[in-house]
Amino acid sequence: MAKKYLYFQPEYVNLFRCNGRGCLNNCCDRPWYIDIDDATYKKFLKIKPKSVAKEITSHFEYDDAKNCYMLKERPCPFLTEDKLCGIQLKYGGHFLSQTCATYPRRTASFGKFFERSLTLTCPVAAEMILFAQEPMKFEFVEVPEKVHSNHGKIKLGQNFPASEKAAEQMLAVQVAIISILQERTLSINQRLIVLCFFVDKLEEIYSRGIDEDELKKLIAAYESKEFLAEQVPMMIQTVNFDAEKFIRLMMEMFEAFYSTKEVQLNEKGHIFLNTVINTLQIKPDENNFVSLSKITANYEQLAEAREKFFAGYSAFLENYLVNEIFLNLYPWKYNSRPSRSLSVFLITYKVFELLTFAATQNNLSSKNDLLKLVDWYTIQVDHGDRLREKIFAYLEERNDFFELMETLLKP
Ligand code: SF4
Repeated sequence: MAKKYLYFQPEYVNLFRCNGRGCLNNCCDRPWYIDIDDATYKKFLKIKPKSVAKEITSHFEYDDAKNCYMLKERPCPFLTEDKLCGIQLKYGGHFLSQTCATYPRRTASFGKFFERSLTLTCPVAAEMILFAQEPMKFEFVEVPEKVHSNHGKIKLGQNFPASEKAAEQMLAVQVAIISILQERTLSINQRLIVLCFFVDKLEEIYSRGIDEDELKKLIAAYESKEFLAEQVPMMIQTVNFDAEKFIRLMMEMFEAFYSTKEVQLNEKGHIFLNTVINTLQIKPDENNFVSLSKITANYEQLAEAREKFFAGYSAFLENYLVNEIFLNLYPWKYNSRPSRSLSVFLITYKVFELLTFAATQNNLSSKNDLLKLVDWYTIQVDHGDRLREKIFAYLEERNDFFELMETLLKP
């Protein structure tokens, strides 16, 4: 019997179809660095006649640092006028490299099973994921060897053993996190506050060496109706949001964009960053001084507009949160304490939320505008170093998870 593999994934994965011809943002057309796996490169070398093999492989060069062959040119030289892959058309799908065959899917190995989801840089995937009104549903599916073996795996953090038990516990935690993020009786910020308390407790359990019963009790408590009715209001009450600290943090993060090549080269980036400048009225005075308290006051005056925004876009924001937390394996992503890893996630999300709010305040609220924003921002987060470096530098100086919660989350 043909071997099958168990995958845990959002239901949308099986609905995704690449729309190469109609795609407005074709991945093969974009200035990304594309690596090619050894097995595919060897297949190219064997193509007959030799002159064709030579022509195809001449478009690749070996990158010593990355230890693999990379495509030398962008857009992809094999892309046809119809925006289809010339290699696939001529030689078939099995000649596609792992990167080309799997994008926009990402797969993580959990030993006994795998997890798969889609990155938001593909506009077709992003539209399907972010504009769904129903909460994202997940499923276990069996994947045949042929599909499975073509997936580039990402490794788990080294501090997390991929034993069967550990993988099961990790999955149970992920499911609990997703259900907190999808708790629609709470606002988005309230859900994030509950998530912070959950991860704080989780860290406590991990620090003592995982006790399975304790972990099960924690998850069961956070999933119970009583907990939602009794404990959650108390948690939320303890958080005193500090708007000035929030604005200071956001200003610090936005500086990162102005020092990246991507923004300098990309008109899209400037457009979205300018919406934040307009919305918060960030203007230097005659002495070239930007007053933080004035920007904070401007931000506070927008309370009603923000409320409307949350009312209209909460499914969109929820879908973004659920997809990014699952795809990136938070709160384990950075091989550090879960609270530290979640802090990175929260700051990353809050920058996105502010950009989205500002876009909608500046008539950039069509589906197409928001997809452009998501695309630009996801590239900054996934492929740019500056924002990540800024976040790490910020967290290095401040080690208080609860202070961060009060800096970011208005209950
Ligand atoms: S960006 Fe998405 S839809 Fe467009 S060509 Fe690539 S995989 Fe297909």
